[in-house]
Amino acid sequence: MQGDEGLRQFRVACELGRKQPGRRFVRPAQAFYNGDVTINSTQFDANQLVSQMQAWARELGFSQIGVTGVDLSSAEPGLLAWLAQGFHGDMDYMQRHELKRARPAELVPGTVSVVSVRMDYLPQSAPQAWQAIELQRLQRPGEAVVSLYARGRDYHKVLRNRLQTLCDRIAQAIGPIGYRVFTDSAPVLEVELAQRSGLGWRGKHTLLLDREAGSMFFLGEIFLDIALPPSVPEQGHCGTCTACLDACPTRAIVAPYRLDARRCISYLTIEHAGPIPVELRPLLGNRIYGCDDCQLVCPWNKFAQRSPLTDFDPRDGLTGQQLAALFAWTEAEFLHRTAGSPIRRIGHERWLRNIAVALGNAFAAGEAVGSVLVLHSKHPSALVCEHVAWALAQNPRGAEQPVLSPPEGSR
Ligand code: SF4
Ligand code: SF4
Repeated sequence: MQGDEGLRQFRVACELGRKQPGRRFVRPAQAFYNGDVTINSTQFDANQLVSQMQAWARELGFSQIGVTGVDLSSAEPGLLAWLAQGFHGDMDYMQRHELKRARPAELVPGTVSVVSVRMDYLPQSAPQAWQAIELQRLQRPGEAVVSLYARGRDYHKVLRNRLQTLCDRIAQAIGPIGYRVFTDSAPVLEVELAQRSGLGWRGKHTLLLDREAGSMFFLGEIFLDIALPPSVPEQGHCGTCTACLDACPTRAIVAPYRLDARRCISYLTIEHAGPIPVELRPLLGNRIYGCDDCQLVCPWNKFAQRSPLTDFDPRDGLTGQQLAALFAWTEAEFLHRTAGSPIRRIGHERWLRNIAVALGNAFAAGEAVGSVLVLHSKHPSALVCEHVAWALAQNPRGAEQPVLSPPEGSR
């Protein structure tokens, strides 16, 4: 999950600091001279601390960390233009925070350094040809496709706990520090920060890319009140490639490095609460939660790294499942099966909405899914009913072959 001006923040923003209201910057003063930092009368070498943090981070499952300062002023015009064009859709929180997102020291007073971290999420079990395998899933209209990052444990929890542990270790080494941790958080320009921290470059699809890790990773940040030596930023390596722009099913990447969230399937299936625009529904295909297309075609992802953690291994029941089976889940079953998964955040109503669209597309492709759709044609949610009605109308045989009853024993 990555993505200021991008899509990873559509994967439900979670500002960790908000959930830890007791945490504040507590240490008022510091000195930073030639790499030496004095904290509580204890002097330490800041370069050495960063090296030590790298080692701790690796032990905790992070692949890389980098450091940058808090001056993101050169990113502000781009952020304002993106908001002005309405590309953020109904993610009002982005508009609300506006320039605070580009000003870490305003968002969290006292911040002087930002540490960005990378955590790879490609499952350990992913085969060599994982990109081709995932692209093939999109060709099977009856199969439900969930974005790769969401098939395992909720990454917010995984990252939060480990970022917290990293901060605890820093504090143990140098004394009390002021900090706040974020992961996939709406108010933070995480790709911008990560790029400046030397973790990679922003690809034309707006996600961060690394030459040795592609883009299949989560990002997290620690806002710190100690001055640390900044890392060297990475240059871009997209060159003349346009594979992600060409592959995007909804043409959401309106120009290199510019995403219209309102057209992005990740946004539409996860963040967006209302009806999915009718003109975009056929383009969603069988994607029911998120979308990986722009990453699947990216040549750099042949270098994507497997996670050292088992947390992102796919759970049973979310990969290779038939749409019909997932559509039949009751709300209780949905809550039970998605406990601890990021999918749970969208709730059963959006889950059914998304699957109804995919079933409509499967119907149009000739799959016999009409009787499954009828299962929820009288759902208490008007949103679900409308999407089911749309899906039923995709019957390629039209009114010649109405579908009236659900399968035996399915209620
Ligand atoms: S390919 Fe999918 S995730 Fe990427 S920009 Fe397009 S719709 Fe969004
Ligand atoms: S697909 Fe090509 S243009 Fe898009 S992010 Fe990857 S390298 Fe860059």
